[in-house]
Amino acid sequence: MNKTVKKIVVILIVLILLPAAFLTINEFISLNQNEEVIGRIYSNQLDAILYSVNQYSEDVVSSWASRIDEFHDNLNNLDDIKISSTIDSFYSQFPSLSIIFVADSASSEIKLIVKKEDNNSLNKLGEFKKSVKNIIYENQPIVERLLTYKKAGYRKLEPIKSDSTINGSILLFIEETPEGVGRITGMVIDPKEFTYRILSPKLQEVAQQEFLISVFNRAENYQFNSSRDFKVGEVQQSKALWIFPDYQIGISLVGQTIEDLVQQRALTNILLIGLLTIVLILGVWIVYRNIKKEVELAQIKSDFVSNVSHELRTPLSLISMFSETLEMDRVKTEEKKKEYYSIISQEANRLSKIVNSILNFSKMEAGKRQFNFVQSYLNDVAENVYRSYKFHLEQKGFTFSIVKDESIPIIKIDEEAISEAIVNLVDNAVKYSNTNKEIIIRTGMENNFAYVEVEDRGIGIPEKDQKKVFEKFFRVGSANVHNVKGSGIGLSIVKHIVDAHHGRIELRSELNKGSKFRLLLPLNKT
Ligand code: ADP
Repeated sequence: MNKTVKKIVVILIVLILLPAAFLTINEFISLNQNEEVIGRIYSNQLDAILYSVNQYSEDVVSSWASRIDEFHDNLNNLDDIKISSTIDSFYSQFPSLSIIFVADSASSEIKLIVKKEDNNSLNKLGEFKKSVKNIIYENQPIVERLLTYKKAGYRKLEPIKSDSTINGSILLFIEETPEGVGRITGMVIDPKEFTYRILSPKLQEVAQQEFLISVFNRAENYQFNSSRDFKVGEVQQSKALWIFPDYQIGISLVGQTIEDLVQQRALTNILLIGLLTIVLILGVWIVYRNIKKEVELAQIKSDFVSNVSHELRTPLSLISMFSETLEMDRVKTEEKKKEYYSIISQEANRLSKIVNSILNFSKMEAGKRQFNFVQSYLNDVAENVYRSYKFHLEQKGFTFSIVKDESIPIIKIDEEAISEAIVNLVDNAVKYSNTNKEIIIRTGMENNFAYVEVEDRGIGIPEKDQKKVFEKFFRVGSANVHNVKGSGIGLSIVKHIVDAHHGRIELRSELNKGSKFRLLLPLNKT
């Protein structure tokens, strides 16, 4: 790689790629952090929803407690077991509430407020009372605490563990009797009934279409959902229900989990960043390529100027040297004089050829070169070049021959341009031949094309350069070539001429064995 190009690559990397890479990595890290924050916010939101459901259920039972308190105060002479139609209508306001029990602070006496339907099994009620007594006894610390709260003017509800005789969950609270003594009161509530009758509308209202809220008890394999099409177990975040600690309320997003959402977002962002990086790399690559091309072109142009000057200098110095010698009358014999004149004329020819070729090239570059297509014999054009070069090449020790395919029909070509192309090829064959000095011009036909080719046994062209030799200013970089004068425009002129004829060039070449350039010109078109 050229030094300037290397420098440009380093600058590009430092200026664009490094900051871009830094930005991408930074973006990645902050992306993960953001996703974590979002995850946390989601989770907090879900928590808040669960909290509100819990709060709601506590409010409900708390209002029940107040009304029981009130109702109880109105029941005069509290009997052992209270039964009356007043009680039944009272119960009807509290779905899922199955029984209320009341104990004095020492829990020596337990009284029940019973619905009519439960009254039939007095036996059972007796057992129930025993259980209640036990439970209060076992939960004495809680009772004490509730009493303390009550004394401080605050009525609190506390769930306590029930047993198998009591069908439901117990919530204890302390009532205040008109006499100012604390009365231990318990509500026995069926949690499933409570969920179904009381909580269900609230769950639906909170959940709407976005969430699924469920109340469940894994031990009993029970699950109630705010929406029916929700599978058991698909709960994302859960909390114990304050009033029924054996039951949990859980919440889930409809369709997707939070992790799904977060992952999806992260994936989209990562894809976008990836795409951006690719576009950036592509941009850098394009900039690099363009700059590299420009640098190479500048290099090539400066080579061209020095090559051309070199090519012009040799014939000019020869011409000036021999003409001066003649001018000073230093040449004695006529023969020598003739030889010098011939050298001067040859070098002048060479000079005009170089200048012509540069002029043609610049016309071609400007798109101003005109072609004059006429019906011609390709063989004649090739033969003319062969004749004009034969003597000169044989003098130089070349074996120069022509092989013609006489069946080639008349085709429409610009004779002068094709002749110039063949001359260029022959010139190259001469320039790039070493000791094996053999050049053949051959004509022929292939498919719909007539062709003329020039073959030599010279230094050949490396495979990797075979396509490039037709580019303007390109010269093979080997030392062999650099010993030979040239401007690197000959083959690009040949290609331009062939293109103008809608033809193509084929090159076969092997290093140190020789090259064969074939110009194919369409038979029936143009
Ligand atoms: P130049 O003025 O350098 O000859 P051309 O455009 O005619 O420019 O050729 C381009 C390059 O192709 C040459 O510099 C040479 O390296 C290579 N080349 C062309 N013809 C031949 C050939 N017959 N044998 C080997 N190399 C060749």
